[in-house]
Amino acid sequence: MKWVRTNNIATGYKGKPHDGPVDDEAKHFIYCPVCGQNFDARDLGQVFHHAEPVHQPLTIEQ
Ligand SMILES: [Zn+2]
Repeated sequence: MKWVRTNNIATGYKGKPHDGPVDDEAKHFIYCPVCGQNFDARDLGQVFHHAEPVHQPLTIEQ
């Protein structure tokens, strides 16, 4: 029988990262001086919304 390592609390095997450290999400967020909301600059929908001279904060679904 071949034993396979699994990543769980019972085996104590914690695995190892496959990639570098996770990018800091906070640096992608920009403050909008018009409505006062912080929005994700990677989301073009939000970027275009906040580019309007007059607008309300977006409703963010969780
Ligand atoms: Zn805005």
